[in-house]
Amino acid sequence: MNPSMSGVLTVLVASACLAVVSAGFVLTERRLRREARADATRDDCLRCGYCRAGLPSDAACPECGEPP
Ligand SMILES: [Zn+2]
Repeated sequence: MNPSMSGVLTVLVASACLAVVSAGFVLTERRLRREARADATRDDCLRCGYCRAGLPSDAACPECGEPP
């Protein structure tokens, strides 16, 4: 293998690695954002942010009275 071929291969491999890492990072970030949003809608009062964890899903917020 001549030196220029080796250089091209190195660039190709480096690009592929970068693409894989970037894709993994984007997917992880999206998953984290989706989980954060799901937590917010599931656990926190929309008005005052009170954590509704452990409350029945049809119970009004004990802090401000906001209905679910
Ligand atoms: Zn509230």
